[in-house]
Amino acid sequence: MTDPLSSAEERIVELVREGRDELVALVAELVALDTTARFVGDPPRDEVRLQQTLATRLRAIGADVDIWEPEPTGRGNRFVPDDLDFKGRPQLAARLTGSGGGRSLLLNGHIDAVTPGPLEDWKTDPFKVALADGKLWGRGVNDMKGGLASLLFALETLHRAGVRLRGDVVYCANTDEESSGAGSLACVEHGVHADAGICGEPTGFDAWVCCRGTVMPVITVEGRAGHAEMPQPHWREGGAVNAIEKAKTVLDAIETLRDEWRGRADKKHWCLAPADIVPTIIAGGVWTVTYPPHCAITCDIQYLPANVDDEGTAKAVEAEVKDWIDAAANADPWLREHPLKWDWMEDIVPAEMPADHPLVGIVLDGAAALGRTGMASGLDSWHDAAHFTRWGKTPTLSFGPDGVDSAHTVEERVSVEGLVDHCAAVALAALRWCGV
Ligand SMILES: [Zn+2]
Repeated sequence: MTDPLSSAEERIVELVREGRDELVALVAELVALDTTARFVGDPPRDEVRLQQTLATRLRAIGADVDIWEPEPTGRGNRFVPDDLDFKGRPQLAARLTGSGGGRSLLLNGHIDAVTPGPLEDWKTDPFKVALADGKLWGRGVNDMKGGLASLLFALETLHRAGVRLRGDVVYCANTDEESSGAGSLACVEHGVHADAGICGEPTGFDAWVCCRGTVMPVITVEGRAGHAEMPQPHWREGGAVNAIEKAKTVLDAIETLRDEWRGRADKKHWCLAPADIVPTIIAGGVWTVTYPPHCAITCDIQYLPANVDDEGTAKAVEAEVKDWIDAAANADPWLREHPLKWDWMEDIVPAEMPADHPLVGIVLDGAAALGRTGMASGLDSWHDAAHFTRWGKTPTLSFGPDGVDSAHTVEERVSVEGLVDHCAAVALAALRWCGV
């Protein structure tokens, strides 16, 4: 049973609906600013302008706005890429101080959007929002400049209605969700925190309370170069060794490990896909007529919130994978004497908040009262909510309009009705969570 809206709540919903064109205009303004996700070393784009756009509007409703550039990541931190620089890519956190006595709420979104390419496949300019079939089309409308705008417009509407919440609201806009998660991690380290939080990712009105984490090894198999068209002596007599063929041992071990995981309770989850290990890149060989001296296999390992170790990291998962594959390699005399080389990319940690957390009920009830019935579920990939939940002591769910199905595609879209209802649902959640 969902609670009916109070007359004060009805008024807020009405105001959001009346502001639909303003909301659409804000989405268009954000999409027009190019904040395409980056590789390490890429120059900044319009991140400063986008954050300033948000800051101006947040100040206008009385928020204290903090915009800062985090320190470069340096080297050797397992959670962020080496040498990531935030110059020209500031983070934003703004606080609307409540009247006191209420619970605080984090509203978060990422400002980066994946590359629009291939550009020739777009029917319209990806940086110019088009309105057709009741939907907005463009890069980032769905993932997630629509949600980012909607979270802000919910606060603007409450302000317009003269509502002063009892609890504080922290509005946070970060970079680097699509690439590494380094932006939200920097926000947590900067002190961004609340009693609970909402990320405006496109969940189709579900509440994503959990996600899987990722860790990626590059496993290098050693061989020995030699002329491929000449008979080779045994390797103990100096003969060539084919690293590509030796890599088969690693691939077979990955397959048997995956099978083993399939049968294990700790690799299954009530709503997420099971833990998995998938070889994604293989690179070996130097010349068409040379025995390949190296072959490197990159894997995408997806792990569950329950698989983290006592420090909340993937170190235990890494050790398990390494031990399993090393053991298989050890059965091969060449590989026993020429051990596999292991390099690990960043550890993107998973997280989970309780599905019966009071904010989950508040968010879903508010949406249901608007005719948008969702449920508690999870994201098999990753979202910034995980950093706020795991490291920021802010249980954070994702909740947003439409489905994630058009995200990252050349037909990225969000329905205007969905966006308006999302905005209204966020305003209702803020009223009910923070109190008035
Ligand atoms: Zn997203």
